[in-house]
Amino acid sequence: MTARVALVTGASRGIGKAAALRLAEDGHSVAVNYVRSRDEAEAVVELIRQSGGDAMAVGADVGTEHGVADLFAAVEAAYGPVGILVNNAGATRDNLLLRMNADDWDDVLAVNLRSVFLCTKTALRGMLKARWGRVISMTSVSGLSGNPGQANYAAAKAGIVGFTKSVAKEVGSRGITVNAVAPGFIETDMTNEIDEAGRELAKGQISLGRFGTPDEISAAVGYLASEQAAYVTGQVLVVDGGLAI
Ligand code: NAP
Repeated sequence: MTARVALVTGASRGIGKAAALRLAEDGHSVAVNYVRSRDEAEAVVELIRQSGGDAMAVGADVGTEHGVADLFAAVEAAYGPVGILVNNAGATRDNLLLRMNADDWDDVLAVNLRSVFLCTKTALRGMLKARWGRVISMTSVSGLSGNPGQANYAAAKAGIVGFTKSVAKEVGSRGITVNAVAPGFIETDMTNEIDEAGRELAKGQISLGRFGTPDEISAAVGYLASEQAAYVTGQVLVVDGGLAI
């Protein structure tokens, strides 16, 4: 497999961490982005280096233009243009719509969707020149089916689906694929907030009867980033244990 430069946003923990480890295992140099968890991000970098891989940690808020500009400047200065972009950073601010304020809406849209626009647009410059690229964005089954209390998050994640399909059509002729992964319930800090009753209720709706692991999502990321997925674009790969069927 050709070694590339991979950038994973929100890679200090959870699914992003697993994706960073997987891409490093596949031989790529990996930029591990975080916004607050510097120590955790440095620990991910250390793990990769101990396994013989190459990684760097870069702090930046990917919901802002200056954050994304600084992030890409740091990565490109160290490694060169990004070939594999994993738009993984995400956050929730759940509330029923009537109790949701405009900040809850704007903040969630910025972290989950504006970041995808900003990072993808920036990464495409180098990918277009190289005539090769992989953009993989983390959407969610919430964006496909909706979820009460998550109108902001579901709107952002549904936005990623339309964005992915549109950009896939724009850049397909240049050897760049643009796909999304839609996890169901995965064991991370994000789902740790769900109480025991909620977890049991969720498990009852999952065909496989359990939450997924971050590694089960990073396997999909590794596939979509690989040469084996060269003819796959504009797709949403649902990895949810049969929740959405
Ligand atoms: P998580 O454990 O809460 O981790 C979120 C990651 O995003 C952290 O690394 C965090 O960095 C980073 N982040 C948050 N805001 C950021 C910002 N403004 N700029 C840069 N990084 C930022 O989340 P997760 O469960 O692994 O989820 C990862 C992705 O999968 C998200 O897009 C999420 O919506 C999606 N997803 C998750 C599930 C699930 O069940 N877990 C299901 C469907 C979809 P810090 O540590 O520095 O705060």
